Amino acid sequence: MEKPRKIFLASHRNPDGDALGSTLAFYHYLSQNGHEVSMAFPSEFPPIYSWMPGSDKILIYDRQSEEINKCIANAELFIFVDANNLSRIDKMGLEMQKYETPLFLVDHHLDPDLTSLYYYAFPGESSACDLVFDVLTEWEQKKYIENIDIATCLYTGILTDTGTFSYNTSPKLFEKLSRLMLAPFNHIEIQNKINNALPEKNLRLLGYCLYHRLEIIPEYRAGIIFLTKSDFEKFNIQRGDAEGIVNYILKINNIDIAVLFTQQPTITKISFRSLGDYNVEEIAKNYFNGGGHKNASGGSHFKGLKSAITLFKEHLPEFFNKYKTIN
Ligand code: 5GP
Ligand code: MN
Repeated sequence: MEKPRKIFLASHRNPDGDALGSTLAFYHYLSQNGHEVSMAFPSEFPPIYSWMPGSDKILIYDRQSEEINKCIANAELFIFVDANNLSRIDKMGLEMQKYETPLFLVDHHLDPDLTSLYYYAFPGESSACDLVFDVLTEWEQKKYIENIDIATCLYTGILTDTGTFSYNTSPKLFEKLSRLMLAPFNHIEIQNKINNALPEKNLRLLGYCLYHRLEIIPEYRAGIIFLTKSDFEKFNIQRGDAEGIVNYILKINNIDIAVLFTQQPTITKISFRSLGDYNVEEIAKNYFNGGGHKNASGGSHFKGLKSAITLFKEHLPEFFNKYKTIN
């Protein structure tokens, strides 16, 4: 890192605020320090993040694979953030695995791939941005991160991955945030851009889901919502528009387990959320080819929407009974 290097930054499919924030923070730091940096996600990021500094330089594998393959081939170092394993980024991950290029993994998901040459992985920490903060302060000999672009990106990722500082927080995290906020960015403006800027159709979709599609299973403290392919057409929405809906289920009293099933063109995607000790990563991993965190995980099912819901309901009693005594 002492001389200029070609560095390739990557994060996960359907990137969220934390994937963007952690990737872009590295991008700003490294390019300001003379490195030649390229960055890519497997798929598009939601337009709600297009104001983030540097986001116009992000390449998308779904439509720019040739250009990205060249960056991968030329890179002297890969940095992979907010994802635990290259297998999570399908074709782009396979392309990266063709080379012997050293990889630096920075992640907070469960099950990090510890075979990578370098890693800074703390499963259970608030966000990848939380960890990128540590890496950058280490590289900067503990100086505060006062650069406005870096601070804006890290603040945004922590904000989105903690539900605006409401879960996975700690005194240490607030200490980091207070350092970031020394940079001259308007943090209320960022909160408004993230939390108060939904397109009207998204809020109407939320209303529809809560009124027509919410099923409560009170004996297992669970609630589920599903969305079909025709819902996506009817509301003129993409998968990203359904993000966040699952969290509303947890707002109900006596509900600790929430699931959203969305029927995609070929698969069913499932989002799990929970409160307390219910480790939904276990369900995502064991039955839905997925993973994530204790209280927020995702997975897929290949035999249709109905079958996915049935499978979940089949395993819910044993799951609930396993954790109910702890909670
Ligand atoms: P979401 O429900 O918002 O899509 O994802 C919640 C969490 O689970 C995120 O941290 C995400 O990275 C993880 N996740 C979502 N889908 C998958 C998946 O298919 N496989 C794995 N391993 N993790 C997933
Ligand atoms: Mn994250």
